[in-house]
Amino acid sequence: MPKVRVLVWNEFRHEKSDPTVQSVYPHGIHHTLAAAVSKIDGIAASAATLDEPEHGLTEARLAETDVLIWWGHKAHGEVRDDIVNRVAARVLAGMGLIVLHSGHFSKIFKRLMGTSCDLKWREADDREVLWVTAPGHPIVQGIGDHFTIDREEMYGEHFDIPEPDETVLISWFSGGEVFRSGVTYRRGMGRIFYFRPGHETFPTYHHPQVQRIIANAVLWAAPSAAGLPAKYGHRPIAAD
Ligand code: ZN
Repeated sequence: MPKVRVLVWNEFRHEKSDPTVQSVYPHGIHHTLAAAVSKIDGIAASAATLDEPEHGLTEARLAETDVLIWWGHKAHGEVRDDIVNRVAARVLAGMGLIVLHSGHFSKIFKRLMGTSCDLKWREADDREVLWVTAPGHPIVQGIGDHFTIDREEMYGEHFDIPEPDETVLISWFSGGEVFRSGVTYRRGMGRIFYFRPGHETFPTYHHPQVQRIIANAVLWAAPSAAGLPAKYGHRPIAAD
């Protein structure tokens, strides 16, 4: 069977300017995520970053991508609108999209959601417990009923997203807040998964259960009917 082709997109700015982030992700968050999902049979991952020509998201590159993973934070505004249009069109045509953590404010996520995607936040070393709310869902395969991240940034409700197709995980934070941390959508023929954890100063993407969920989500989001575009427009009466 052909492998699922994953492209991990990272803004890749904090890793260059912040020694704490450098120490946690010496080769960049994209490298850690690509290595993590590549451990799974059937997934082949590569990476692209903001400062590459066309942000590394050329037509050709996207055409050979089954699932795009997106991490961005402080440079959402530098992502070119024509590239956002291009990525959105690919999602509507069937490419999977996994948006991580502060990607909730990325142009591509806000475009596909149609809402502000705003939330509450606090950077204060909260403990986060993620509870599975859709047992048996492929994205939480192998996770059990909950898992814990010892230190994370808090994201709290209300999270201004459309009502999800499925809410797979809900987080509780030691400050008392809760958050819909794993949610799915379909837009056009594309599947979208938003997954909350992953603040850049914490080693969240080295956490085995976080890695497992992202890899599961890649397999879930991969297009299953590639090469079968829908037909639109006028349809004459026909015998068949
Ligand atoms: Zn953060």
